[in-house]
Amino acid sequence: MKRTTYAGLVDEKLIGEEVVLKGWVQKRRDLGGLIFIDLRDIKGIVQLVFSEEYGEDALKVADQLRGEYVIEVRGKVVARADKEVNDKMRTGKVEVDIVEAKILATAKTPPFYIQDDINVSDDLRLKYRYLDLRRPEMQRSILMRNRIIQAVHSFFDSQEFIDIETPTLTKSTPEGARDYLVPSRVYPGSFYALPQSPQQFKQLLMGAGFDKYYQIARCYRDEDLRGDRQPEFTQIDMEMSFADPEEIQEVTEGLIAKVMKDALGKEVQLPFAKMSWDESMARFGTDQPDVRFGMELKDLSEIMKNVDFKVFSSAVENGGQVKAIAVPGGADLYSRKDLDAFGKYVERFGAKGLAWLKVTDDGFSGPIAKFFGDDAVRDEILAKTEAKVGDLLLFAADNSRVVANTLSYLRVQIAKEQNMIDESKFAFLWIVDWPLFDYDVDLKRYVAAHHPFTMPNEEDLHYLMNADEDPHKAYAQSYDIILNGLELGGGSIRIHRRDIQEKMFEALGFTKESAEAQFGYFLNALDYGFPPHGGLAIGLDRFVRLLADRDNIRDVIAFPKNSKAVEPLTSAPAPVATKQLEDLGIFVADNDEDKK
Ligand code: ASP
Repeated sequence: MKRTTYAGLVDEKLIGEEVVLKGWVQKRRDLGGLIFIDLRDIKGIVQLVFSEEYGEDALKVADQLRGEYVIEVRGKVVARADKEVNDKMRTGKVEVDIVEAKILATAKTPPFYIQDDINVSDDLRLKYRYLDLRRPEMQRSILMRNRIIQAVHSFFDSQEFIDIETPTLTKSTPEGARDYLVPSRVYPGSFYALPQSPQQFKQLLMGAGFDKYYQIARCYRDEDLRGDRQPEFTQIDMEMSFADPEEIQEVTEGLIAKVMKDALGKEVQLPFAKMSWDESMARFGTDQPDVRFGMELKDLSEIMKNVDFKVFSSAVENGGQVKAIAVPGGADLYSRKDLDAFGKYVERFGAKGLAWLKVTDDGFSGPIAKFFGDDAVRDEILAKTEAKVGDLLLFAADNSRVVANTLSYLRVQIAKEQNMIDESKFAFLWIVDWPLFDYDVDLKRYVAAHHPFTMPNEEDLHYLMNADEDPHKAYAQSYDIILNGLELGGGSIRIHRRDIQEKMFEALGFTKESAEAQFGYFLNALDYGFPPHGGLAIGLDRFVRLLADRDNIRDVIAFPKNSKAVEPLTSAPAPVATKQLEDLGIFVADNDEDKK
């Protein structure tokens, strides 16, 4: 029997016709001599009817069917009786009277129901991922991913970008994470690194004259997995020669608009808004602002430096800041206990508690209100924060980093709790003009804010090139694209001159020798006429997750790792045979001691 159509596509247009369908048994209802089967395939579900009248042998087959058996059937499409019509399903007006049926595969009872909204552990779902992926919501996610990928290819092809693959077994590209290493059998003690991104290769392709490159590239970073991270993930990676940031942003916007149209049928407004990194940090305390709601951070340092309240005045005196957000109607929304809980939470950002004031008809109320009895000061605070009676003011007083982290967290958390976010909106935003370097408090040194190949702003080049200036003051030609408060991707104009690249490595703490040892091939390449170039990469998994409206990127990846970097289906990573290790010249230290 040759399939004539999909189960999920059988509708009233086919009434009177014979169809051959293949798929899985979703449900079986036995009414004695009359058996109903819901048959499921990738397009949906249709109801099959078995009875002696339509097919005696077929009825016998139906008798043996259980959930998830794979069958093929031949039958006639008929209209359902009026009272049996199900308007919610495409196939709800019809059913198929089965003449012939055959079991193609039997099935054990699955460990969970093959349906949406199941309540089972992630690991069980991942262990039986092939069953999990049979569930309609998972099939929708994977199909959405496919639509997005097709849109990406079609967009880049239309713009004459060239899809070029870059190696998976390569040398490490520093994107700030730990590398996954692959031992070489031929050169014991030497290792390939799995790429954290194709960064250097795409730049080398610019040097090779392929002036517009793109790739849907797999990247690998050995990081602790939180939230949206996976050890291997996919980037929409692109690079262009002779382009300025605006041209790269324009191409990116075109790409996003095409994806939004093809995948969701949504038109997006172009161009996207732009905000400098400095402004974003000042107004939102983060470089990934969610601009779908207000409650922006207001700087009260000037006002607070003279107040009686030591916590505030000394923060400013010590070179820090006092900032606040005003929660609309917040005076009634949060109890003292809630606010204490917030205070406890923000200690993880280094905050020493949370100061707050409620705005009432007769001034402020709350434990620190007594310090703010002065009318003039109160009016200044109200003017600056635009707070009204009934609002709640939340303060942070500390160095700029603590203040930013504390208030940006509270801003988003409260907006979520109070349903202040219009979830139907897609708010795209460019964050531009980043600092070139970032001070890493844990490492206690400067790191590249984007990556070491990022070009400083032209007017800041002197900070890098003049030996007696501080390179860490430079700003960069880099940009991130933000969607709804999450970083979707980022990129930059790259350094295409050897002298600048060498200075960049130097500013990052490389000696001439160590830069040469790690990046000599790349520096040499820059000796041979590299065009000015730049590009960007978008995290595909996160993009799909947002468009598919899923909470976890695992739901948009067919075979992801769990939160402990394990793939429960195959049990990777797993020990290997001693012989395999010997071939690689690898000796695994006996860490039984550690396990005790
Ligand atoms: N390689 C960068 C990254 O993975 C993106 C880029 O600069 O194009 O973040």
